Amino acid sequence: MPNRIKRRCDVSPNRPATRQTPAERGYDALWRKVREAYVADHPLCEDCLDEGVTNPEHIEVDHVIPILIRPDLRLDMTNLRSRCRRHHKLKTDEDQRFYG
Ligand SMILES: [Zn+2]
Repeated sequence: MPNRIKRRCDVSPNRPATRQTPAERGYDALWRKVREAYVADHPLCEDCLDEGVTNPEHIEVDHVIPILIRPDLRLDMTNLRSRCRRHHKLKTDEDQRFYG
């Protein structure tokens, strides 16, 4: 991923980013393997679990610290969290407020 540092510095967070392919955004074959391993261990939404809800629906694996901020943690299991679609969206909105 030779361009990632350059891209990270070039992209203004306030500018609507040109749509990149998933691989360009860091979601490549290696990521899919890590994601699969993580979701096998964490098949439920971890945010729902915190609320006392068991939710195995539409699980997406989220980066706790976004890839854009810490690309080195992209494949780090300790930086991952299983979230349902709703919680993933909430977290993404939160990230945009926090880092954007
Ligand atoms: Zn959830």
